[in-house]
Amino acid sequence: MSEEQLEAPQQVIGEEPDTSRGTVRPITVVGNPVLHHPCATVTEFGPELHALIDDMFVSMYAAEGVGLAANQIGVGQRVFVYDCPDDDNVRHIGVVVNPVLDELEPSQRNLDDGNEGCLSVPGAYAELPRPDFAVVRGQDRDGKDIVVEGTGFFARCLQHETDHLNGYLYIDRLSKRDRKDALRQMEEKSPRYEVVPNE
Ligand SMILES: [Zn+2]
Repeated sequence: MSEEQLEAPQQVIGEEPDTSRGTVRPITVVGNPVLHHPCATVTEFGPELHALIDDMFVSMYAAEGVGLAANQIGVGQRVFVYDCPDDDNVRHIGVVVNPVLDELEPSQRNLDDGNEGCLSVPGAYAELPRPDFAVVRGQDRDGKDIVVEGTGFFARCLQHETDHLNGYLYIDRLSKRDRKDALRQMEEKSPRYEVVPNE
């Protein structure tokens, strides 16, 4: 996920990754099949997965994103990384493997209609109502079960990244008109990071 402006964060939940290990990879954009199909469940928690996570963090930072799913660097595996502020100015950093979003009780579903953007739809932003609370269950890089909770903008990020791994972009949740407008915004600007050209 991408954001127009970041405030200076205060508290940090999670650990900053060692960015000396990863390789920056170009970002896939809307139209690339890898973004439009569900990703595969991760079953091996070894060096290959760890190298993928390293690449994902540095690729996200290079593109100045706040979240990145593996299929955004062309790998169809269920993994996302994040370094994302919430609305209370807390910075959340981490990785979730095989994420599944909890279904919210109706009483927990308060819609927040903030702006959303995506590194795979470069240069475009659109208002999209989403619940302001999210719970994601999955595994960490070593296969240990984890639960990640988020509010505000970070809740949006958790939902956005899980959508990616299910084969959906945020523009798939927009009205026909807003989707068209987002794609037009994308056409009007050139990305400020390297992307994978579509065939
Ligand atoms: Zn995205």
